[in-house]
Amino acid sequence: MIEGLTDHRSLPRISTALVVKAVLAVYWSRLGSLNALAMTRSVKFWKSWLDAPLCSADSLGRIIAGMEAGPLRQGIHHVYERLKRNKALPDLHGLAVAVLDGHETSASYRRCCAGCLKRTIPSGQTQFYHRNVTLMLLCASPRDRPAVRLLLAAPARARAGRLSAGL
Ligand SMILES: [Zn+2]
Repeated sequence: MIEGLTDHRSLPRISTALVVKAVLAVYWSRLGSLNALAMTRSVKFWKSWLDAPLCSADSLGRIIAGMEAGPLRQGIHHVYERLKRNKALPDLHGLAVAVLDGHETSASYRRCCAGCLKRTIPSGQTQFYHRNVTLMLLCASPRDRPAVRLLLAAPARARAGRLSAGL
């Protein structure tokens, strides 16, 4: 699934798959940021996990920001289908439960991008910002294993704040 993920670069020197694998390591190891990840660049693990050296935090962030949402959603859907079929996503106390959470990020009065939302604040200034919405499935834990926490969709890159269901 990771090899099918793409971004908007025309001649990439760093593969999208490498970046996704690095970000998964951030998630699994609970590192707090891409900068924290970049501080581990000299660790031998990266050469074996990525088959290449780890790139800088700036490159990771830039490549992630340009990723295509469609293949990512398809990948999430693929993982969900497999887990559901294998009964690895049991209901929580007899209910299918999901948590919906929204955040605003990247507010600025000076800079904006094609995905920015904008609002006028009481002083009359225009503020540019992004909204992110997350939908996470909460399952019971199968016997002797931790519960799976699965994000169900990814926001469209060009339409910040709008959630497109992956299921
Ligand atoms: Zn923006």
